[in-house]
Amino acid sequence: MSQSSPIKLPNMSNYWMPFTANRQFRSMPRLFKAAKGNYFTSIDDRQILDGTAGLWCVPAGHGRTEIATAVGNQLLTLDYAPAFQSSHPLAFEAAERVAAYMPEGLDRIFFTNSGSESADTALKIALAYHRVCGNPLRNKLIGRERGYHGVNFGGIAVGGIAGNRKAFGNGLAGVDHIRNPLDIAKNAFTKGVPADGGVALANEFEQRILTLHDPSTIAALIVEPMQGSAGVVVPPAGYLKRLREICTQYGILLIFDEVITGFGRLGTKFGADYFDVIPDIITCAKGLTNGVVPMGAVAVKREIYDAFMEKSPAGAIELPHGYTYSAIPIACAAAIATLNIFAAERLEDRAAGLSAYFEQAAHSLKGLPMVKDIRNIGLVAGIEFEVIAGKAGAMAFATYLKCFEMGIHVRFTGDIIAISPPLTIEKHEIDRIFNTLADAIKSVAAAGEVGLDA
Ligand code: PMP
Repeated sequence: MSQSSPIKLPNMSNYWMPFTANRQFRSMPRLFKAAKGNYFTSIDDRQILDGTAGLWCVPAGHGRTEIATAVGNQLLTLDYAPAFQSSHPLAFEAAERVAAYMPEGLDRIFFTNSGSESADTALKIALAYHRVCGNPLRNKLIGRERGYHGVNFGGIAVGGIAGNRKAFGNGLAGVDHIRNPLDIAKNAFTKGVPADGGVALANEFEQRILTLHDPSTIAALIVEPMQGSAGVVVPPAGYLKRLREICTQYGILLIFDEVITGFGRLGTKFGADYFDVIPDIITCAKGLTNGVVPMGAVAVKREIYDAFMEKSPAGAIELPHGYTYSAIPIACAAAIATLNIFAAERLEDRAAGLSAYFEQAAHSLKGLPMVKDIRNIGLVAGIEFEVIAGKAGAMAFATYLKCFEMGIHVRFTGDIIAISPPLTIEKHEIDRIFNTLADAIKSVAAAGEVGLDA
């Protein structure tokens, strides 16, 4: 924001911002006051092109009147209904619609309020499933290095971003992590899915559970089909398929965390569809309501749900888990309206149709100073920078700030800039995102602005 801005800033003493350097933010606030289509309006009246669909969560673009109307009407009709032991018809309709959008067979839907809650719910369902089936010793959970599964205790335990975990002690016991599939030395500047090495990499999972664990003690493996928060890590061909085979062989549940990859991001409904691998459980959130009302969902295979129904004692609560706001009416209304938009506008197909153009634009940044790798899939791209000794993340952070100044919202995570625009993005806007990003990178590198503390 320019120093000469006449805008009156809010009192910023009370709000403790999440995942933000609060002290830095106060010295350089970045505030939005409106949004429509693919643009935000900043508090100083600038149009900022949304290169990230909010936090990956606004696939249908901002300010959709269909969703606003559905939510507003719902609020005036039935604002709330108790979520436990009673419900409302829209919850069942929303579940039916989500089930129809999921890959075949994953049609039993548990509603949550976020991606983090979806991850913890999925892990709890996996653990409870083995217990209800008489296998209480299947109680270990496996995640991956650099995996991100939200911020609740289950999610940070199976998650592999050390920075998100080490501030809070040890978290859950009985958790292990397998290797992250990123191999820049081999695959730098690969367009789309790396061709080789997927099966060998997945075989390391089998090796690890055979060497360090008894596979019959493993409840579940959780992976993001494409790791978003780790900085856009696209798995090599064959990797997820082989993980699926190994999980099936050893009776381990495979969970796909599709909080980012769900709802069209890869040019298919889910990452499961893109990679043609069906997990046992899918988690989602974000795009489910186009980001406007907090809502997540966990889809489980019918057999898993049936096991709870058939094996729990008669009359018992089959899963002692849930939230006051599970399937809150306005979230159900928002989800149905969002799914209507997806059906009418075929946003997944739109994303698929734009992905080659987007890929070309992203890879046009190859050769710019500091650019170490570019990765992409669907409408996601990650630009990874060389690490500056002692200043991890500084180049990406400075580039993010420069882009904001130049009217583009990008995301930084570690030494990576991630781009994930609304699926309603136009080609000229794709050009603008990457041209601006190129100018920002050149300017930051030339000015030595990387001295900024991230
Ligand atoms: N899982 C994945 C893969 C995510 O990317 C995210 C959020 N970026 C989450 C879980 C957590 O979602 P939320 O912030 O809604 O809790």
